[in-house]
Amino acid sequence: KMNTDLGQHILKNPSIADSIVNKADIKQSDTVLEVGPGTGNLTTRILAKAKKCIAVEMDPRMAAELTKRVQGTPSQKRLDILLGDVIKLPSLPYFDICISNTPYQISSPLVFKLLAQNPAPRTCILMFQREFALRLVARPGDTLYCRLSVNAQMWARIDHVMKVGKNNFNPPPMVESSVVRITPKVPRPQISPDEWDGLLRICFGRKNRILRASFFGTRDLIDLLESNYRTWCAQNDVPVDDSPVEQTEEMEVDPADVEMDIDLDEDADDVPDFFKKASSRKGNKRKKRGKVYELVKEKVRKVLEDDTELADKRARQCDEGDFLRLLYAFNLEGIHFC
Ligand code: SAM
Repeated sequence: KMNTDLGQHILKNPSIADSIVNKADIKQSDTVLEVGPGTGNLTTRILAKAKKCIAVEMDPRMAAELTKRVQGTPSQKRLDILLGDVIKLPSLPYFDICISNTPYQISSPLVFKLLAQNPAPRTCILMFQREFALRLVARPGDTLYCRLSVNAQMWARIDHVMKVGKNNFNPPPMVESSVVRITPKVPRPQISPDEWDGLLRICFGRKNRILRASFFGTRDLIDLLESNYRTWCAQNDVPVDDSPVEQTEEMEVDPADVEMDIDLDEDADDVPDFFKKASSRKGNKRKKRGKVYELVKEKVRKVLEDDTELADKRARQCDEGDFLRLLYAFNLEGIHFC
């Protein structure tokens, strides 16, 4: 009996199992991490090629079945089974390659756990739901291009390797699948993952908005950037001018803000985390804003309009080079996203 809550869809087509393992280009000296070995269809093929396989399995029944399958075979000593949730493991042991017919619930956290691994694996061959795979490889202008695409492509080269129809699984999942290859960039780009993600959350909050609207039409965003800016100033001994500014009428009700905040809940999934917190606050009384707020607002305007000239571009048209230029220009102004 399969537990589909755990994404248990066993690959039943042996030639697909062969090609997944072949795509990984395993060397005799390699240690392979397998996530979710299940009954071991991929595991036995990995063990035929690798020095060692570390298999992380959450379901004790599956782990027992796998143990039985290799017992008494020459590869028994080269298989380590770790029982547990791969995402909750505080750290992963060393591995050269990751192979997984991934339980779909953990697709995104698994990708970022693998990309955070140090040293980076040489390559990862992973089976995902087709749409998730296509989002991973999407390029600017593609319909599926999104925060996930830019976030993952910052740290790795990602290729679509093959399509796998649902009837190759038992039981068949609801949707089609695809295998992708993830090759981490070496050396790792020297930027902060949290800050990169923070910037992308703002830009992709509405991926069809122009960036000017993403920054100025998102309620409380400038307040958040002001607070980050104050932290940065404190850490860098930069004095801040806290005198109040005269509140003019245009500032009280900025028609652009109001208009752009109307569509708050459409594609709510794409809304940045802190933004959800901000908009769920009771009431929306405007705070009294001081000179630092105005300074931050001007810095944001300058970066978008003068330094990068990206103000009128939409996130869905920007590539990772554009986002890097943005992050660099903001950081030069002391503006940070985490
Ligand atoms: N590798 C086998 C195959 O290809 O036939 C089984 C793949 S099946 C899609 C996913 C496997 O991952 C299941 O055995 C399931 O119990 C296991 N699993 C689910 N969530 C997990 C998690 N968070 N950590 C580790 N294993 C997990």
